[in-house]
Amino acid sequence: MQHDELWIGTMLEGNARWVLVKSTDTVEEARRRHGMSPLATAALGRSMTGALVLASSLKGEENVTLRLLGDGPLGGVVAVGNARGEVRGYVREPLVDLPLKASGKLDVGTAVGRGELTVSRSLQNGEVYTGMVPLVSGEIAEDLVHYLLSSEQIPSAMLLGVLVEKDYHVAGAGGLLIQPLPGAPEEDIQAIENQLGRLQTGISELVAQSESMEELLSHLLGKLPYHVLERRPVGFTCMCSKERLSGTLVSLGKKEIADLISDGKAEMVCHFCNEHYQFSMDELQEIWERA
Ligand SMILES: [Zn+2]
Repeated sequence: MQHDELWIGTMLEGNARWVLVKSTDTVEEARRRHGMSPLATAALGRSMTGALVLASSLKGEENVTLRLLGDGPLGGVVAVGNARGEVRGYVREPLVDLPLKASGKLDVGTAVGRGELTVSRSLQNGEVYTGMVPLVSGEIAEDLVHYLLSSEQIPSAMLLGVLVEKDYHVAGAGGLLIQPLPGAPEEDIQAIENQLGRLQTGISELVAQSESMEELLSHLLGKLPYHVLERRPVGFTCMCSKERLSGTLVSLGKKEIADLISDGKAEMVCHFCNEHYQFSMDELQEIWERA
């Protein structure tokens, strides 16, 4: 399949809405930038895909930040997605490794551990809404479903998956959210549950196998009738720049900057994309004057 995309639609004659994301290249870029192990790639990839799904109902610059802070060896995951399909993120310990689960799957739940999930929505009017729930399993999709139900009273079904090859490349990544709308008849809810229960293959494998978003949708939704409302491109995009980071340096104050100057140079690294920015003596001098 070609580019990463997010599709939004309805199903069962408008009684439910769905969001489908193919995020293979996006997660592969995150893996490459952060030099992540397969386990860290799965944890961050699921979180970034989840952030894209949740951000899809927002507008423009509005964004969603997911923070999974658990006591596992991963040490925390942060993913930020916006309504334009831009997403970025990082994990605290990118090299984390654990034995596979009995099912042969990467043990994301143990890597994340027990703790909290925080979801913050930052809106255009400057308001930020934050909700926090305990992590249910650390497997991320389950945690987001729990958050949506307990914090926003929205029943949902969600699949998130990342398939990492033996050579560490991401072969498939994606996510599906289905939400019955208020008043949806019980048989429609049952039909959605039955269809998801029938899936024998994980969403990441289905993404890897599918030639198109249509084919992926037909694997996931089976015979349930659906309608596509919107298609958007998605991708890994960071907001950092040398200018922004000099702003951060300015805010550190003259003393801190003077210490950097005495070293002769400074390097700043963006957490979100692992981009390295070098500041020369002259640039530091100019920043010191602005401070
Ligand atoms: Zn960055």
